[in-house]
Amino acid sequence: MVEEVGPEVQKLKVGDHVLVPFNIACGKCAFCKQGLYGNCHESNPQATAVGGIYGYSHTAGGYEGGQAEYVRVPYADVSPTVIPQGMDPDDAVLLTDVVPTGYQAAEMGGIQPGDTVVVFGAGPRVFWAVNCWWMFGGGRYIVIDQFFYRLYFVRNYANCEAYKFKEMADRVVFLNKTTDWMGADVVIDAVGAEAAGNALQTITGRKLLLQAGSTTALHWAINSVKKGGIVSIVGVYGPTDNLVPIGNVLNKGLTIRANQASVKRLLPRLIEHIQNGILNPKALITHRVPLEEVSDAYHIFSAKLDNCIKPVLIPPSARM
Ligand SMILES: [Zn+2]
Repeated sequence: MVEEVGPEVQKLKVGDHVLVPFNIACGKCAFCKQGLYGNCHESNPQATAVGGIYGYSHTAGGYEGGQAEYVRVPYADVSPTVIPQGMDPDDAVLLTDVVPTGYQAAEMGGIQPGDTVVVFGAGPRVFWAVNCWWMFGGGRYIVIDQFFYRLYFVRNYANCEAYKFKEMADRVVFLNKTTDWMGADVVIDAVGAEAAGNALQTITGRKLLLQAGSTTALHWAINSVKKGGIVSIVGVYGPTDNLVPIGNVLNKGLTIRANQASVKRLLPRLIEHIQNGILNPKALITHRVPLEEVSDAYHIFSAKLDNCIKPVLIPPSARM
């Protein structure tokens, strides 16, 4: 809820209930004008890549907030959007990050009717996203993850094939075999730098930090997509170097697309889908945690305890 507005704010007033995208966009720079709100040049002028993001360190502009009870919102007339009448707040909160990110993953993948789409990682954005991606017309969705409860959930929630990678001798061979040795049309890396599954990557990327995190999922993505296919990355990687099979990218003629979600650009379409009953993001919420107990929530989520899919944090003022 808006508590106070600055003198130049025109569109919002005190008392409005708004959804605030996780990234900060000025709305006027060359990148915002192209709809690349996640790459705003004004909100994070120090960086060559990402725009400003709340609570995401100085590589993303050094803005505080993200999971705070109160937050200062720059460029308040640009991205913050008044929650439409009748929209459930649980749906609205997921529109600030998870839902647009999942939607953009499919958009970047350029999914065509009949395509086989492989997704590495079954986090909350993927549950929601695969459910939504059927709208893009893909013929087959295959999700790979390491936790059985998440695979069980995604299989039921999104009606897709789901496999535990630790039960496969070789994930790339398995995926090539199940696609008649052609490879998938589109592969989406929704894991990012925290990937498990390869000892060398885990040691060099997560333990010794010799590279910016483990690129295990990216390796699998590049090696299991068909020639001429598209790899779409929404898993988070840091800005510095990684050991990546770039030679295979060249020799397979791949298209790789990756970005942080341009939430502002996607919001009108996603709000419409929720209002029409096509999408139901709030079905993902499994845990509600008081903001003061955030460290417990992080432990539950990161340790994958209690079948946690998507926790939401409730600040004291929202409980009154
Ligand atoms: Zn901008």
